[in-house]
Amino acid sequence: MRYYGDPVLTTPARTIERVDESIRALAQDMLDTMYAEEGIGLAAPQVGESLAICVVDVPRESDCDPDGQPYNPELAMPLVLVNPEIAWVSEREESREEGCLSFPDVRAPIRRPVEVTVRWTDLDGQPWERRLRGLVARCVQHELDHLKGILLTDRMSPVHRIALAGRLKRLRKATENDLRAAMRSG
Ligand SMILES: [Zn+2]
Repeated sequence: MRYYGDPVLTTPARTIERVDESIRALAQDMLDTMYAEEGIGLAAPQVGESLAICVVDVPRESDCDPDGQPYNPELAMPLVLVNPEIAWVSEREESREEGCLSFPDVRAPIRRPVEVTVRWTDLDGQPWERRLRGLVARCVQHELDHLKGILLTDRMSPVHRIALAGRLKRLRKATENDLRAAMRSG
């Protein structure tokens, strides 16, 4: 896992030209990492690969409106999105607390559109376009941010950035120290 302070996280990811065995292996590795870390989404830069691919697995029980109806009943999880793009966003936005596997113990409310239409390619090279709602819409927007090098710290309000400044600084320093140590031993 790559953490806040690692330059790969703030580098825009490269478009994937062809979905081949190496991409399928990367997707499997990302799914394994996401489940091991108990996350609901992961983008390739978070495992050190600057490529436009992310994975999402929102549990059924977290994908329901207040009446218990699924927001995205036709969507099969996990999702593997190659070269995803947002084609449309709703005007209505909502602020909800978010975390990120690259920011241990950091949570902050983030404002995002409640619905989005996303286009992507799957692992068979087939194009998809779906309207997403609820937590899936939020999670996919978070992962697409990663592919542009945009992080929670860029999205949170100045008030939260100031409140979390000490924790963020410690995390960045720890990451930079680890990277320097890895460079010396490598
Ligand atoms: Zn994240």
